[in-house]
Amino acid sequence: MSENPSEVETETTIAADADSALAALPVVVIKKRRALPFFSRHPWVFTGAIARVEGDPAAGAEVQVVTDRGEFIARGLFNPHSNIRVRLYSWRADCAVDETFLSERLDAALALRRDVLDRNQPESACRLVASEADGLSGLTVDRYGKWLVLQLTSFALAERRDVIVRLLKEKLSPAGILLRTEKGIRDAEGLQLSDGLLEGEAPPSPMFIEEFGVRYGLDLLQGQKTGFYLDQRDNRAAFAKYTAGLTVLDLFCYTGGFGLSAMVNGGARGVLGADASEAALKIAQANAELNGVADRMTFEKGDAFRVLDRLREEGQQFGAVVLDPPKMARHRSAVPSALKGYAQLNRAAMELLSPNGILVTCSCSGLVSRADFEAALAKAAIDAGRNLQILETRGPAADHPASVFCPENHYLDCYICRVE
Ligand code: SAH
Repeated sequence: MSENPSEVETETTIAADADSALAALPVVVIKKRRALPFFSRHPWVFTGAIARVEGDPAAGAEVQVVTDRGEFIARGLFNPHSNIRVRLYSWRADCAVDETFLSERLDAALALRRDVLDRNQPESACRLVASEADGLSGLTVDRYGKWLVLQLTSFALAERRDVIVRLLKEKLSPAGILLRTEKGIRDAEGLQLSDGLLEGEAPPSPMFIEEFGVRYGLDLLQGQKTGFYLDQRDNRAAFAKYTAGLTVLDLFCYTGGFGLSAMVNGGARGVLGADASEAALKIAQANAELNGVADRMTFEKGDAFRVLDRLREEGQQFGAVVLDPPKMARHRSAVPSALKGYAQLNRAAMELLSPNGILVTCSCSGLVSRADFEAALAKAAIDAGRNLQILETRGPAADHPASVFCPENHYLDCYICRVE
């Protein structure tokens, strides 16, 4: 505390202003005995936890969240259209969720990638902002070379889109900023967003990035997600350590990532990639050519289960199989059938592996726990009559951190296994 009377006065005035700003906010009262997760910094307040709302907040408005006895918990943004009725951002009563707050959170997120993870090379790509994990629930920002791709998954941040775009422009001077919206989010959050260019110039299609010496052409506007699966970067690289001389089956290959890594960096003998998306396979083929390995990479359009059946009927064997299926469980009720699906898929993959073959098997179903996924792998190994050793238990690359306060954030598991 300052000794100088005028400074004391200023501090008191600021504190009083902050108090009155807080007092002016609509209030969301949490039900009795339901407040612990929010004191523990879980950022999602579902409708079921709310006793009542005082003050009629507009969609996207800042609110304060309090216990049933009126004790302050956090400040958040309100959405009457979403099951996640409030997203929490600030656990300090005197810290508003305003432009300064957004700017500071962005700075912290950018500093991690720039200073700690060293991901600023001009030809590289990385996730700059990872929603809850960076304290910005509902905002994802990926950088692809000179372009930024935004995903807005909350109404309130979508409403603040212009501020976010301006801040990103000031901080990063990108060539252009694009918006991509995940399927289903418009309905879940009541969003009215149209994908496309928000700022600057459109990227060429394809535009190119490089990852550990592998070059990829991407389509940022039409490709899946924001154009590429950046979260698997380190897993693709880790796989290459095991693939010398092997023939690889890359299932759910998208634009060819795991197979290309095995060919370019891992000395693999050849790759068969399969995916259900024709558009993805076109890019995969072009990527194989771009990297000078097209003569030993073949791509096939088809459902992964059918491709596995056919290969088994033909008696084919592979030294390594990669399984990177899309999310299998979107709701808790879908977890048992997802686990069955994982067990079947992994069994079929193991049946194609030569003795001591390498299996890379992934789950991006956040609702499926590691323990359950490992149990599905165990079942698959028994059914296939094989022994399975887990060599590496991996998650997403570090530019996709997970918030310790939000377990739903931990969505990607990747196991590298040896199958005897
Ligand atoms: N391994 C990829 C990412 C895979 S994402 C990488 O490193 O970039 C999952 C992929 O599964 C998508 O490309 C999608 O088109 C594909 N897919 C979805 N359902 C499928 C199915 N039933 N059979 C084959 N591919 C499928």
